Amino acid sequence: MARLVMKFGGTSVGSIERIRNVALKVKREVDAGHEVAVVVSAMSGETNRLVDLVSSISSMHDAREYDVVVSTGEQVTVGLLSIALQELGISARSWLGWQVPVRTNAIHGAARIEDIPCDEIIRRFAEGQVAVCAGFQGIGSDNRITTLGRGGSDTSAVALAAALKADQCDIYTDVDGVYTADPRIATKAAKLDKITYEEMLELASLGAKVLQTRSVEMAMKYRVKLQVLSSFEDLPGTFVVDEDDIVEHQVVSGVTYTRDEAKVTLQQVADKPGIAATVFGALADAHVNVDMIVQNVSENGHATDLTFTIGHKELPQAMKVLEKLRDKLDCKAIVPDPDVVKVSIVGMGMRSHAGVAQKMFSALAEKGINIQVISTSEIKVSVLLAEEYTELAVRTLHTAFGLDAA
Ligand code: ASP
Ligand code: MG
Repeated sequence: MARLVMKFGGTSVGSIERIRNVALKVKREVDAGHEVAVVVSAMSGETNRLVDLVSSISSMHDAREYDVVVSTGEQVTVGLLSIALQELGISARSWLGWQVPVRTNAIHGAARIEDIPCDEIIRRFAEGQVAVCAGFQGIGSDNRITTLGRGGSDTSAVALAAALKADQCDIYTDVDGVYTADPRIATKAAKLDKITYEEMLELASLGAKVLQTRSVEMAMKYRVKLQVLSSFEDLPGTFVVDEDDIVEHQVVSGVTYTRDEAKVTLQQVADKPGIAATVFGALADAHVNVDMIVQNVSENGHATDLTFTIGHKELPQAMKVLEKLRDKLDCKAIVPDPDVVKVSIVGMGMRSHAGVAQKMFSALAEKGINIQVISTSEIKVSVLLAEEYTELAVRTLHTAFGLDAA
């Protein structure tokens, strides 16, 4: 007997027929004698619809009321799934965030889970009851409904698995696992049997959309055994595991990309102390997250170019902030470029292999792809490219690092 958390995303509960299919999957685990907690998202498209409703009334809305509205999608699916389970003769009940309770801080719209006392759920496991829990929502320290940020039900599931000390957390989704690259772009991409938490964390934050980044952080912290698998096929998925559970590390395990980037160049900005602090301080104050940064040594000792990247959506806000600083910066021009992509390679093996970055740069150079900005960490190398090269770059790197499926 094991204790399982099964999480189903929006597409997996997108229709009544699919909710019935989920109920059958849950029944199978219950019949096998396992204790099961299910975490569900809202039906696909529903959260977007709710967000649009809120925005259509006010763009500067009260975040607490936003949470009241957008959390309702999950209230519908926990109820429907509980009924579907009961129809199959399974004892099940729904749990909203505040009922569990999933305690969070009071940062509405982006709350963080602090604690999940789940004694009552565990007590009911002993009576054979399945807990059907609403993902994405909790109750804040202000005693009001909170949501965890878009895609947050992955984090709900992992947090619940940690709190329940579950043996496994299965994330059922519309893909059958984690791939070496986006299969829509790299037709030779292969499904990975296993990947480490560290690699998954990099992949998730660098654009792979299978899991919310915060859910991977949490799985890593609490060593929750995670599996990403398809809710439509009966196949094993990808396990996200500890480093020690993988015998031989690939130098590169995956290639990923994100178009969610924009580049800004401050041309001929004064080369003197305090400029970077002024620029990035002002951006931070405006809640603009800066990712990659390059600055050259100035030729003449007076002025140099400063280039950095930010989220695509944040470009207008960043430009506003920079225009205000214009006089202070005394630069020749502020040049925005929204048409860029960040392509990254990720792999634990990089820690022990030299020449990985060089191999990446050569492979791109051979295809005539110009690299605009580079950033590295222990297990990844990212490059910023013109967006038109996305597909070519991903395929080229996939082949160069020997990831193409036979
Ligand atoms: N329904 C929420 C969203 O769309 C949470 C989730 O699906 O993970 O963001
Ligand atoms: Mg999701």
